[in-house]
Amino acid sequence: MSQNICVIGSGFSSLSAACYLAKQGNKVTVLEKNTEVGGRARQMRKQGFNFDMGPTFYWMPDVFESFFQDFGHSVSDFYQLDKLNPAYQIYYDEGEVVRVEDELEKIVKTFEEIEKGSGAYLKKYIAAAENNYNLVMADLVYMPGQKITEIITLETVKKIGLFMQSIKTQVRKKFKHPKLRQILEFPVLFLGATPGNTPAFYNFMNYADFGLGTWHPRGGMFSVVLAMKELGESLGITFITDCAVEKVITENKSVTGVQTTKGEFACDVLLSGADYNHTEKLLPAHLRQYSDSYWARKSFAPSALMFYVGIDKKLINLAHHTLFFDADFELHAEGIYKTGKMPSKPLFYASFPSMTDDTIAPDGKEAAIFLIPLAPDSEDGEAFRKKYFDDIIERLEALTEQSVKEHILFNESYSVSDFKEDYNAYKGNAYGLANTLLQTHVLRPGLKSTKLDNMYFTGQLTVPGPGVPPSIISGKIVSELITKYR
Ligand SMILES: Cc1cc2nc3c(=O)[nH]c(=O)nc-3n(C[C@H](O)[C@H](O)[C@H](O)COP(=O)(O)OP(=O)(O)OC[C@H]3O[C@@H](n4cnc5c(N)ncnc54)[C@H](O)[C@@H]3O)c2cc1C
Repeated sequence: MSQNICVIGSGFSSLSAACYLAKQGNKVTVLEKNTEVGGRARQMRKQGFNFDMGPTFYWMPDVFESFFQDFGHSVSDFYQLDKLNPAYQIYYDEGEVVRVEDELEKIVKTFEEIEKGSGAYLKKYIAAAENNYNLVMADLVYMPGQKITEIITLETVKKIGLFMQSIKTQVRKKFKHPKLRQILEFPVLFLGATPGNTPAFYNFMNYADFGLGTWHPRGGMFSVVLAMKELGESLGITFITDCAVEKVITENKSVTGVQTTKGEFACDVLLSGADYNHTEKLLPAHLRQYSDSYWARKSFAPSALMFYVGIDKKLINLAHHTLFFDADFELHAEGIYKTGKMPSKPLFYASFPSMTDDTIAPDGKEAAIFLIPLAPDSEDGEAFRKKYFDDIIERLEALTEQSVKEHILFNESYSVSDFKEDYNAYKGNAYGLANTLLQTHVLRPGLKSTKLDNMYFTGQLTVPGPGVPPSIISGKIVSELITKYR
């Protein structure tokens, strides 16, 4: 039976869920508080430059392809996808650079050059990681997280040891060189926790990195948002922007509608892709599943200090994705996850999409995006932002041997207070709830409300976890749950 379904938010999870629900014949209305769809993946446009405001790494291309194929399409019907080479490059102290290239064989060679004997082990390590990836993608990641038995299979039981040790332990057993360790530990940062707090089973992210590669959708990640919106419109979804949901209206144990800045919308089912904690605050207290102390105990993924910078010339000695590991990794991680204090010299990530895509910046100019991971609810303010901007630009200039500061046309910053203001993000988190062992699957906030019979949740704070591919998967899983229970 066709239902009238309201979806709060238009991030990847909401867009994905809305498409599946519309395909099943439901009347779907997406209510987004911001002026533009895409959630954390919105685009900032200024003086002819286009900046992806959130995600920039397009990993796990199979997940995107599978999404569009579910609707009889292919990614190529909507946007052009290019494999990046190098996938990314890393700067260490004193300008030393490592390029992570686009094929495993080449990466093996790079490892071997840095640490003799590590290449052969890398091949074995990635083969095992591929095996985990296939296991996860075939089944596990699509489980709704309602019962632990969903993920107890013959295969996972055989791998129980991988849940009991961390990626850090596993990597450090075989790779001795600090650079190689950092390269292999870097992908798990996408899961929101430290390598020491992430089960070794998640090494499938290393396969996503070295095996599947890093891709770039022409026009930036926002092209994916536009593609999903276009697909949604073709399926009959109504998108309403500048429409913040202020209250969920309930009767007994059901949602009957939502009150928004654009009036009331009645619905048979309510699905929220907005941050989980915020959505529950829209409900009367007795209908919330999780208390304030529950959220306070949770390990949130970092927030971020971002800079979107227009530069009046082309830059040299940089790659589309460049990581600056010329700082103390442990000290920065401790600041994010333990003390909440930022080191004076943090690690940072920079993206220069205009180096490979001429639609991103005016001719002869460069678009730069800088990201410094921060503790959620970290200090914010103009002076704080400026201090770190000056630091990273100075380091960039020194390491890459060029002048940058005097070529800056503009610099727009974005941080904790903006995440709170724009997305109602708990503590201003950027990537949701971390995927630690104790925050995996059934141990994450649920997709279906236990207090309301027609209320559902999706996105990076619920199952399966943070990142664009998991958010797209989250939308698919929740749409299946809604169909199952209605
Ligand atoms: C800076 C940054 C860098 C990242 N880098 C990567 C990367 O390189 N690769 C990768 O795969 N992932 C990356 N991620 C993670 C990825 O972007 C997210 O996991 C994903 O986009 C989350 O999608 P979502 O649907 O869960 O939530 P969101 O995108 O946050 O969507 C939630 C939506 O709900 C809306 N909303 C909130 N409250 C209300 C309300 N009351 N009424 C109406 N609407 C409301 C918000 O405006 C928002 O549009 C990054 C994230 C950030 C922030």
